[in-house]
Amino acid sequence: MMGQVQKPFKEILDSLEGYKKVTLMGCGGCSTIFKTGGIKEVNEMAEKLKDAGKEIVSAIGNPFGAYVCFTPVMKPIIEKNLDAFKEADAILMMSCGDGLQNARNILEELGVVKPMFPAQNSLGYFGGGPEFYKEKCQGCGECVLGFTAGICPLTECPKGLMNGPCGGTRTDGMCEVDPEKKCAWVQIYERLDKIGEMTKIYDILEPHNWDKAVRPRSVNPGSLDLVEKYTQMKELIISMGI
Ligand code: SF4
Ligand code: SF4
Repeated sequence: MMGQVQKPFKEILDSLEGYKKVTLMGCGGCSTIFKTGGIKEVNEMAEKLKDAGKEIVSAIGNPFGAYVCFTPVMKPIIEKNLDAFKEADAILMMSCGDGLQNARNILEELGVVKPMFPAQNSLGYFGGGPEFYKEKCQGCGECVLGFTAGICPLTECPKGLMNGPCGGTRTDGMCEVDPEKKCAWVQIYERLDKIGEMTKIYDILEPHNWDKAVRPRSVNPGSLDLVEKYTQMKELIISMGI
């Protein structure tokens, strides 16, 4: 998931200075999970902007599962709301930066070119929940977790050391940079021991190959059968008794 936090309201308001009519759109994916752009947050933001003197053309909250970054789902939603985007002086996107840019592409394909502003600061890939989330992967393009007991040294170690620990590890095993956090390489050592792969600690890993992290990257996995996927989701929800 894309970890994210909402920008301070003053920053959002400053970005909208000079634009009277605003359309807001949230995201039914990570922004709902991180409570930065779910239906509730979109409605709350619309009220705050109204109180600050803005005219809200439309506050489009997307239900869970309607990801702004996923064109096959988002394009029909944007098409349905196209008049609201056309009428607005500016668009406030309550999604991650990826979502904003995907919506921008869709809108431009549909002939709508408007100023668009992010309500969020995006932080990268996070996992966890239901309440606490933590960055675990930086999408380097060449995963080494098989050598490091499933713990990412690039992300878990503030120095991104491929071979560790560094000389600064505290005597209690905590990180030199962050005394609240156990050293990544102590974690790797302990987990290698648990899974019976301790000999791997003696392997010297090559400097990380960043060739595959040259941006912007792209992939083409082909299209999805949405009916099949949402049917599977429905079956999962029913099986969980929700
Ligand atoms: S090695 Fe690269 S792909 Fe694997 S978890 Fe770390 S950042 Fe992500
Ligand atoms: S103490 Fe461990 S986690 Fe912290 S910077 Fe050094 S090697 Fe990385």
